[in-house]
Amino acid sequence: MSLADYKGVLVYIEQRNKEIQKVSIELLGKGKEIADKLGEKLSAVIIGYDVKNLAQELIYYGAERVIVVDDKILENFITEPYTKALTAVINDEKPEVVLVGATSIGRDLSPRVSARVHTGLTADCTSLDIDEETKQLLMTRPAFGGNIMATIICPDHRPQISTVRPGVMLKPHKDTSRTGEIIDFDAGLLPTDVNIEILEIVKEDKKKVNIEDAKLLISAGRGIGSKENMVHLYELAEELKGEVSGSRAVIDNGWLDKERQVGQTGRTVRPDLYFACGISGAIQHVAGMEESELIIAINKNPDAAIFEVADIGIVGDVSKVIPLLTEEIKKLKF
Ligand code: FAD
Repeated sequence: MSLADYKGVLVYIEQRNKEIQKVSIELLGKGKEIADKLGEKLSAVIIGYDVKNLAQELIYYGAERVIVVDDKILENFITEPYTKALTAVINDEKPEVVLVGATSIGRDLSPRVSARVHTGLTADCTSLDIDEETKQLLMTRPAFGGNIMATIICPDHRPQISTVRPGVMLKPHKDTSRTGEIIDFDAGLLPTDVNIEILEIVKEDKKKVNIEDAKLLISAGRGIGSKENMVHLYELAEELKGEVSGSRAVIDNGWLDKERQVGQTGRTVRPDLYFACGISGAIQHVAGMEESELIIAINKNPDAAIFEVADIGIVGDVSKVIPLLTEEIKKLKF
């Protein structure tokens, strides 16, 4: 079988409790762009139990074909049957490109599937494009601790598989006039494919903060000085109805929970407004926030790298600037 026999773009749609995950919709947007550049079709594959009714929504977001693998065995995510199902779809469909969200599920599934179909995988891509001449997928991701951006190709095997973190690609426009094909797929699953038994599912009861969804982020760096000083940021966040996030230094110091970390090993965010407070602007941090609409940086060092990506820079002591700013905003409200 030759490489030219592989056609089209396939996006793995991750659903949890029958809820389509945001990253999958974002990947439909990117997938459509890639499919258009290749002059091919965009397909989506959804795997689960009683999930067929979600297929139409995927068409509204750009999928021209939706392949549904629906089986009681697939009610909860279990690595082996999901791997078998996705591998079977890929072997049957022979897509040229496969995109998967770099979530905990996507990170579990995609390396196993790529090994089973004997191809490569580029994880945690921050940009994807098509080489105009060779039509290869150009998969770009930070490498060597974020010091360089590496563009990786997969010239000798198909499909070209890539994972992308939530929040990196833009969510496409929903168009309810779109139509498409919904295809039932029998992956030939057997009860023996389930090699573990789920006895109980315990949900984390802690309120989950999703900084990726916040329109406004007040982000703390080591320059905040102490956990006690974080209170200034919470006050500003409350005034502006935003969330508090931070650099890895702040998370490592135990001033914030890990789920609020922005950057290469944290979350990728693109809020309307990002306040960088006492953050130096290390490449690993900037990689997770540079796409923000407006960046305001406060740092006492006028040469701090964060000012290179900031739209507005304030040179000053955060512990003085932030309370003053909060006061001024309060005044504006009355
Ligand atoms: P610092 O670099 O210490 O900067 C503190 C800044 O505060 C300085 O610029 C200083 O001038 C300023 N300052 C000090 N006092 C004040 C004051 N009173 N008022 C105003 N400004 C003040 N980092 C991340 O953030 N996210 C990641 O996901 C991440 N992933 C990483 C992955 C790898 C593989 C590696 C190697 C590193 C990673 N890092 C990450 C760490 C990153 O390299 C930096 O060390 C980190 O971002 C620094 O955090 P910071 O800017 O808060 O602290």
